Amino acid sequence: MVVYDLICKKNHRFEGWFPSFEGFQEQSAKKLISCPACGTTKVEKMPHACAVLTNRGDKEEKKAPAKAEKAPTISLTEAEAKELLIRASHYVRENFEDVGPRFAEEARAIFHGESEKRSIHGTSTPQEREQLDDEGIPYVILPKPDLDS
Ligand SMILES: [Zn+2]
Repeated sequence: MVVYDLICKKNHRFEGWFPSFEGFQEQSAKKLISCPACGTTKVEKMPHACAVLTNRGDKEEKKAPAKAEKAPTISLTEAEAKELLIRASHYVRENFEDVGPRFAEEARAIFHGESEKRSIHGTSTPQEREQLDDEGIPYVILPKPDLDS
């Protein structure tokens, strides 16, 4: 199962569960996905916000509602949660620049506009994360690759 954040043309956000990405595409093509708030089938997948300091283009800005809505709470089994984390983790490793142990430093530089805006991943110490928290710099902790086994 995969869960996607979906958004309808009227900016209602909701979550949809699908057997796979292909399952989502199929249901989407057949207009089987409808918004629970207004019933429209004009629904699309939101870009996944699983990572830190993503480079927000204008396109993404326009799609997002002016006020961020609180995401609904979902309950996952341990296996489902693990699968989601692993998927997120794979995505990040494939698409984000690896800055290794310089993560905290780079995240701060990007946050303050001193470094090129881009998506990064790397490692950090608990102390560094505490500092990032203090400074209000957003980041996400993902599981290590060895969780796959
Ligand atoms: Zn709607």
